[in-house]
Amino acid sequence: MGKYESLGQYLELHGVNYVKDTHVRELSWIKIGGRIKHAIYPESLDELVSLIGALREYGIFFRVFGNTSNCMFLNSEKYGVFIFLKKLRGINIDSSTGIVVAEGGVNLSVLSRKAVALGLKGFEGMVGIPATVGGAIFMNAGSFDCEIQDVLESVTYLDLDSLTIKTIAVEALGFSYRSSAFLRKQINGIILKGTFRCERENPEVLKLRMERAIAQRKEFQEKKTANLGSLFATKDIYGAIAKHHRGYSFVLHMYRRSCFRLKKHFGIDLSDNKVLNAITQLYFFKRFEKKVFSDKTLNCFVNDSNTDEDFFELVNWIRGLTNGELPLENEIVNSLEGDEIND
Ligand SMILES: Cc1cc2nc3c(=O)[nH]c(=O)nc-3n(C[C@H](O)[C@H](O)[C@H](O)COP(=O)(O)OP(=O)(O)OC[C@H]3O[C@@H](n4cnc5c(N)ncnc54)[C@H](O)[C@@H]3O)c2cc1C
Repeated sequence: MGKYESLGQYLELHGVNYVKDTHVRELSWIKIGGRIKHAIYPESLDELVSLIGALREYGIFFRVFGNTSNCMFLNSEKYGVFIFLKKLRGINIDSSTGIVVAEGGVNLSVLSRKAVALGLKGFEGMVGIPATVGGAIFMNAGSFDCEIQDVLESVTYLDLDSLTIKTIAVEALGFSYRSSAFLRKQINGIILKGTFRCERENPEVLKLRMERAIAQRKEFQEKKTANLGSLFATKDIYGAIAKHHRGYSFVLHMYRRSCFRLKKHFGIDLSDNKVLNAITQLYFFKRFEKKVFSDKTLNCFVNDSNTDEDFFELVNWIRGLTNGELPLENEIVNSLEGDEIND
């Protein structure tokens, strides 16, 4: 019996939730991605841990995801096994001590809203990040003056080298801007739970901050079309390009000055960057055949009937303009080395 057949039997026998022989584009946030053999959705930590043991026994490689809101998949790839943790949604909040324990699949926006309602500080800026707790810890997600590392106390994870459950303090996770020991592969593990400690604050104050963050997101974030948030780790993609091109730097300066004046004197708001995007393409003699980036920013790939090739065309163009200086924030997911998915 082939290893995937054995896995199928295991999943049936243990009543584990899964989808077989489908396309990643049906499951992924960005709606792009080739065939996949098994997408598995464990519903408890015990089910997950047993499943990993079985996958090890059958010699099957796998990848773990939350909402895939930071991941670009490839249409030509044939993927093997993905484990999605979004059904691990347990939350325990002790509002008197400010201690919050959340499983890896908990939706960060849901957790943030609960914390705000209970007067627990530190999550209010993160409402609107379409992450799970595991995915957010993995890359130290954050926005509007709130970052996961600021409220995190410890992480419980399944160590994939020893297959044991370990708890590690936040200080040992080496967090930096959009990075952690998990992302840098210094720890090979699945994040099962995060334990957070929040200070107390008047819920009304937190609610106001949360609403401000939501309003700002509406203004700056692509809403209409499937996307993965920021492509590159920068708050100002145009400024990053201008650093390398003197003439463009002048054009950008003049454009921003004109925008300021138009808004001040005539109330005309060009903050959605549609005009600046057109100017930038004209300046660099670039024309995309399709709509590949958001009107709100060049730094956001949108899937408007696009493919992974369109994604790479945009990424390579921006890389060229910025001398490859900016780290790519979105993750490109290849099929797993050594995984024989034709089995
Ligand atoms: C519209 C939009 C807005 C966004 N805004 C922001 C923002 O303001 N700030 C920000 O920081 N990010 C933002 N992002 C990016 C994205 O939401 C974050 O990167 C988020 O942390 C990804 O979480 P996820 O659960 O979807 O992880 P996934 O995309 O599913 O996974 C990302 C990586 O984490 C790993 N991973 C996921 N869960 C686990 C786990 N339990 N254990 C071990 N590894 C795991 C995966 O293997 C993968 O390598 C935005 C994305 C979108 C689409």
